[in-house]
Amino acid sequence: MSEEYAVDCVVAGAGVVGLAIARALALSGREVLVLEATGLVGSETSARNSEVIHAGIYYAPDTLKARLCVEGKRALYAYCAARGVPHRNCGKLIVATSPAETEKLAAIDAHARACGVDDLEPLSGAQARALEPALNAEAALLSPSTGIIDSHALMLAYRGDLEDAGGMIAFNAPILAGQVAADGFALDIGGAEPMRLTCTSFVNAAGHGAVPLARAIAGIPAGAIPQAWFCKGSYFTLSGRAPFSRLVYPVPEQAGLGVHLTLDLGGQARFGPDTQWVGGLNYDVDPARGEKFYAAIRRYWPALPDSALNPAYAGVRPKIVPPGAPAADFRIDGPEEHGVPGLVQLFGIESPGLTASLAIADRVVEKLL
Ligand SMILES: Cc1cc2nc3c(=O)[nH]c(=O)nc-3n(C[C@H](O)[C@H](O)[C@H](O)COP(=O)(O)OP(=O)(O)OC[C@H]3O[C@@H](n4cnc5c(N)ncnc54)[C@H](O)[C@@H]3O)c2cc1C
Repeated sequence: MSEEYAVDCVVAGAGVVGLAIARALALSGREVLVLEATGLVGSETSARNSEVIHAGIYYAPDTLKARLCVEGKRALYAYCAARGVPHRNCGKLIVATSPAETEKLAAIDAHARACGVDDLEPLSGAQARALEPALNAEAALLSPSTGIIDSHALMLAYRGDLEDAGGMIAFNAPILAGQVAADGFALDIGGAEPMRLTCTSFVNAAGHGAVPLARAIAGIPAGAIPQAWFCKGSYFTLSGRAPFSRLVYPVPEQAGLGVHLTLDLGGQARFGPDTQWVGGLNYDVDPARGEKFYAAIRRYWPALPDSALNPAYAGVRPKIVPPGAPAADFRIDGPEEHGVPGLVQLFGIESPGLTASLAIADRVVEKLL
């Protein structure tokens, strides 16, 4: 027989965004329980990304992505410094390798300024090569505020703050179904010890699980739930040392940022993610996709040796618009969007969700006030 419990706030999902939200709610004095379907924190998209602290360059001005990236970046650097989360403000170069791409750099710079990122430095090819001698570049933009972070250490820090403030995480506790009630929510939790839980506030931060979870809760209007789409990004690691000390990005593509070079804090270089629309979650890396990587990378790093790339891992972007549609903004839907008191739902939290996590959390707390 299942048991029934009551709690103030439930957050669905212990990814970086769910943890940041749970932490912020607990610090604001709320009683918080995070329900996580798996046995770990951050085992889905939060473990399968580039671990880049984005500057906030590419998003449409006045979108949540643009505002929360810039706000979140500042908050994240301060948080990492205060809490000893490993990170490095290494900077990045956006590299143009043809006259057509060089023209796009000026537009990227203007766009970034409109988003509140006014520190990009236009560089000639020679100036870019003075910084990174292995680079092939007609011109470049230097982004000094871009960095890298140990995302797992970040999630452990968020978890520590949450637990210090009295919050808890229940693992292997998938929310299977639920309903909107007169004074909150009733949720059916699966796992080894199924139970029914009631709460006054409910935050759906379940990443790829957010759309199916919203559909499984009776009383959430169907029109408030987007359709889920999946865009996979595969990564390849480099054998041997990378000749770069900054991140190197090509001029962006439509569904992603192009096959870029990122570094982890140990100096290991990885390339990716590419873009591949898929029918659902599938994290296999097809080694054959590496062949396309060589050509894309050699445009900005001609000396990439043959056979230097090894299949590494893949992440899947939680899209809410289909292939070919203009990029969608983050959706952080509160009562004013869907009409259900006490409910906040997060959809389409793709990049820069890691960078923006603290700012997203503040936004959710405001919506629940
Ligand atoms: C390829 C790729 C590269 C990226 N690179 C960057 C980057 O460099 N910088 C950056 O800022 N952002 C980046 N991002 C974005 C960033 O990774 C995400 O925005 C962030 O990880 C989303 O976190 P989340 O907590 O919303 O989701 P997730 O990490 O997916 O967590 C959701 C959690 O919910 C749980 N869950 C699902 N359903 C249920 C249920 N019914 N009940 C209970 N729990 C449930 C899941 O098990 C999971 O643990 C990238 C994303 C991708 C795909």
